[in-house]
Amino acid sequence: MKQLHAARHAFEAHLIRGFLASQGIEAQVRGEYLTSGWGELPVDVCSVWVMEDAQFARANELLVAFLSGSFARKFSGERWTCPQCAEKLEGQFTACWNCGTVKPATTDQPLPKP
Ligand SMILES: [Zn+2]
Repeated sequence: MKQLHAARHAFEAHLIRGFLASQGIEAQVRGEYLTSGWGELPVDVCSVWVMEDAQFARANELLVAFLSGSFARKFSGERWTCPQCAEKLEGQFTACWNCGTVKPATTDQPLPKP
């Protein structure tokens, strides 16, 4: 088992894990609540681990493609902007990692006024 990626958010780690699973690679998210060793403050750090060492090189290739956006575009299209907090998000995110707002059904149309 090898560590593939240190994610900035738990959401990102789980997204990558799901992506690898869809490509036939078993991975695990670990260390969501580590202690830092600096007064034992909990830090929200997640890493993605590939279960089979033999799949690591392939997983790494996929991850690079995924993070660079070539797979992201195939997955679910265009970048979008969170209607809640205006965070800019890649198309593969189905919810805002900043505030948790779910991606609107259409991103190129303004939301209808209530
Ligand atoms: Zn947001």
